[in-house]
Amino acid sequence: MADEVNRLVILGSGPAGLTAALYSARANLSPLLIEGTVPGGQLTITTEVENYPGFEHGIQGPEMMDVFRRQVSRFGTRFLVGEATAANLRTYPFELTVDDQPIRCETLIISTGASAKLLGIESEKRLMGYGVSACATCDGAFFKDKEVVVVGGGDTAMEEATFLTRFCSKVTIVHRRDQLRASKIMQDRAFKNPKIAFIWDSVVDEIFGEQKTGVSRVRLKNIVTNATVDFSTDGVFMAIGHQPNTAIFRDQLEMDELGYLKVRAGSTYTNIEGVFAAGDVADRVYRQAVTAAGTGCMAALDAERWLEARHA
Ligand code: NAP
Repeated sequence: MADEVNRLVILGSGPAGLTAALYSARANLSPLLIEGTVPGGQLTITTEVENYPGFEHGIQGPEMMDVFRRQVSRFGTRFLVGEATAANLRTYPFELTVDDQPIRCETLIISTGASAKLLGIESEKRLMGYGVSACATCDGAFFKDKEVVVVGGGDTAMEEATFLTRFCSKVTIVHRRDQLRASKIMQDRAFKNPKIAFIWDSVVDEIFGEQKTGVSRVRLKNIVTNATVDFSTDGVFMAIGHQPNTAIFRDQLEMDELGYLKVRAGSTYTNIEGVFAAGDVADRVYRQAVTAAGTGCMAALDAERWLEARHA
């Protein structure tokens, strides 16, 4: 594999990567798709997905990614289980290191996604998709007339909390300081919303519940007094930010201040010719499966046309 130069390598196997593979395989580019550390991407840690068009009755996130993968497998994609740990885009063909093996390619589609930042407690992992969520747009509708907690004090937390009041009877924002980081306008919107309450200077230090029955309560710790208190809730939404998975491209590709890849407007072109970006890794705004799939399609078409022009 080391001597081989792949026409196209796709990094990441969420909706963006798999859609890029679908289109490029059907264009006979025989893409090599490197699946990454979370094969299937963020959807594999959600439960029901009701907002992906085409699934009339909704579908479980992991099952949906299985369907994506099976559809892609009908064409000529080569799958490689592994993680890219280094990239050299200053050389051409581009060079990647995947589990210590060198991999070279003429074009690269980066669809490594973004990971929701989490608190790092065991119960949060165990109950993810069972009352704990990192996406109100995805899971809010499952909490109709329920009471939920939103963790965080930034724009995402305000936006998620405000959105959740469409369904929930009460939303409590738990923030670790006594001042919000969110923009004034988002703060005001949250303060004015009668369904939103705030608990200041506090962190969630344990979540109680079972996968069968969901979340029942959280333990809150006041970080000024160290006092802990149990707080009843039906769900917990983590809104403490996202981390785009771009570390191996630092100092090579243009990124915004949060590390999201910059693409030329209306395309998936990065600042390096032959390197394209699709999905959440280049999208701090929409972050939806359907938008990721859409830009995955764009990246495949961009790569195909770029190769065609180069070989013409
Ligand atoms: P953010 O601005 O980094 O805010 C993260 C929040 O989570 C902060 O309040 C932070 O507390 C808290 N936090 C971080 N780690 C924590 C931990 N381990 N435990 C408890 N709390 C923790 O992230 P964001 O809200 O996702 O926003 C990211 C960017 O997207 C921002 O530039 C934002 O303006 C933008 N955005 C814009 C919109 C909009 O305009 N519609 C919507 C969403 C996001 P501290 O404040 O104490 O650090």
